[in-house]
Formats: sequence, structure tokens, C-alpha cells
Amino acid sequence: MRNIRKSAPGEIAGYPVTAQRRLLLDLIREAGGHIDAKEIYRRASSRDESISLATVYRGLRLFKELGLVDEIRLGEVRGYYEIKRSVEHQHLVCKRCGKVIEFESPLIGEMVAKAQRAYSFNVTKAELYLEGYCQECKKKDS
Ligand SMILES: [Zn+2]
Ligand SMILES: [Zn+2]
Repeated sequence: MRNIRKSAPGEIAGYPVTAQRRLLLDLIREAGGHIDAKEIYRRASSRDESISLATVYRGLRLFKELGLVDEIRLGEVRGYYEIKRSVEHQHLVCKRCGKVIEFESPLIGEMVAKAQRAYSFNVTKAELYLEGYCQECKKKDS
């Protein structure tokens, strides 16, 4: 069993934080969510040339394990990262400009509760994304 202890300054959940990891977390935070690994790498390497894509992926994996970030799938291939929040939310994704809009709906919680009851199933994750065109892209197309 992993020994969980309180974080000291300069540590994340008891793990020593390198300056690079701190930078990665800052970048995800600054992006306000929904940033993918390649974009994190692009921004990180402009501030710290020694950072590699492998460092980014390792950092992201660790953040996920520690429950600091969520990896979300929006569309078929891209994995997006965002700082974990207590409020569950879902995503609207624009197919044209890639904009991600967050929304909350009580329906999802109700659906989960219903599924749990009906199938005695313990739901640990519910993810929904709706794809389409944002207001600006809709205007441009018409
Ligand atoms: Zn759009
Ligand atoms: Zn989100």
C-alpha cells in the first residue's frame, strides 16, 4: 500500500516535484483545461528547452495517478488534460475550430444513479461529449 502523507512545500502529494513538473502543472492550470499533451509540450519547451515530450508524458501520467489532473477523451484520438475539479462536467466540442465548452447537467447524475440501481453496477466514471459547431463556426458556415 502506498503511504499517503501530507504534501510538504515543493512536493506534490509527498512526491518530490521537479521544476519541470511544476511548470507542466502551471501550464495545464493556465490553459484553463482541455489542453493536449503536444500543446503542453509546445508551451513547456518554449519556457524550458531541456524539456522533452517523454518528460511531458511521464509527468502527465504521474499527475493522473495522483488525481491532480483528469484525462478526457474528446473525439476519437486526442487526449486532453485538465486540472481535476470537484464538479463533474461534460464537454461540447466544435468540429471546426476545436473549441471546448463545458456544461453541467443534473441528467447525467440521474442517469448514473439509474444505471447503478438497475444493474447493481458501481459506476466510477461517466463521460459524455457532444460534437458539433460552435456559435462562431455556425455563423461562418451559413
Ligand atoms: Zn468553432
Ligand atoms: Zn472540462
